Amino acid sequence: MRLILILLALPFFSIGQNHQQFKFDGPAILIHGGAGGIERKYYTDEQIVSYDSALRAVLQSGYALLDEGANGMDVVVHCLTLLENDPHFNAGKGAVFNDMGEVELDASVMNGATKKAGAVAGLKHVKNPAKLARDVMDHTPHVLLIGAGAEAFAKTQAHEFVENKYFLTPKRESQYQRWKEMKKNGTVGVVIKDANGDLYAGTSTGGMMGKKYGRVGDVPIIGAGTYADNNGAAVSCTGHGEYFIRENVAFQVNARMQYEGLTLEESASRVIFGVLNEDAGNGGLIAIDAKGNATWTFNSKGMFRGAKGKMKESQKVMIHTDIFGDPTWPENCGF
Ligand code: ASP
Repeated sequence: MRLILILLALPFFSIGQNHQQFKFDGPAILIHGGAGGIERKYYTDEQIVSYDSALRAVLQSGYALLDEGANGMDVVVHCLTLLENDPHFNAGKGAVFNDMGEVELDASVMNGATKKAGAVAGLKHVKNPAKLARDVMDHTPHVLLIGAGAEAFAKTQAHEFVENKYFLTPKRESQYQRWKEMKKNGTVGVVIKDANGDLYAGTSTGGMMGKKYGRVGDVPIIGAGTYADNNGAAVSCTGHGEYFIRENVAFQVNARMQYEGLTLEESASRVIFGVLNEDAGNGGLIAIDAKGNATWTFNSKGMFRGAKGKMKESQKVMIHTDIFGDPTWPENCGF
C-alpha cells in the first residue's frame, strides 16, 4: 500500500522541469523558501539538515493551527512571520541587499474566498512585512502601500520597528560583496486550504541581491507573485520577479484553469515551463486548489519547499520537504 501511495505521488523530473503533485483531503499547507541556483554541491550536510528542520518547523506549526480549525489567513501570516524571522531565508531577517547595501522588503497576502488582498513594498524598518500586508488588507481601502507611507501606516497599527541592520546577516554581507556574480534569488511563500475549504496565499521577500534602490519585484504585485481564488487556486511564486510581473504568473495559473479548463498541475507546468523557462523567468511556485490538488513546480535547479496534509488515498497525514531538483523523495517523506 505504501509503495502504491509513493508511486501515485512520484515526482516528474526532466532537465529544468521539476514538478510534483499531491492530493490532499481537508486542510493542507505548502510552503517555499525560494528558488534559484540551489544545487547540492553548494551545501554541506549540516546546512541541508538545518534548512530542512527550518521548513519542517514551519509546516508543523502551521498545520497544527489548521488542524484546530484556524482561519487560513491567520495561518498564512503566522507561517510567513516564522519564515521572516528565520535568517535561513531571503525575507525579513536574512534578506538580500539592494545596490546601496540596504534591505528593502516586499510582501503580500490574498484571501481566495473574498478576493481581498494586501501588499507592501520597499519597507526598511518593519520587522514583519507580511503582518503589515494583512493590515493593509484589513484596515485600509487600498491594496498596496509603499515605502515611507507604508511605514507611517505601520506606526498606526503598532508594528514592531527595527534598525535596517537588524535584517543583515554575515552570510548576506559576504554575498553582497559578490552580488554581481551571484544573481541570488530567495523569497518565502505559503499557500493554504483551511478547514472551511477556503484558499489563501502569501509571499514575502527581500527581492533580488543587488537590486536597484527602489526596485519592486513581483511579490507585492497581486497576480504576479501572489494570487488566491477559491474558483482556481492559491499560488505563491519565487524567482526572477521581472518576468513574473510581465507574465502575471500567479493570476495566469488561475486564468488557465478557469478559462482554458486545465488542471492545476497542467496550468502550473504550462506557465513555468512554457511561458517562462530557466533563462527567462528562472523560478517556480507552490499552489493548491479547492479540491485539495496541490503542486510545486519549478524550472530552476532547486527550490526550498515543503507540504503537510492528509493524503486523499491513504487518509494519512504526510509531511514532505525537499530542496534540490534531484529529489530525496521518497526518503524525505514521512507519514
Ligand atoms: N521574486 C522575488 C523578486 O523578484 C525574488 C525571489 O523570489 O527570489 O523580488
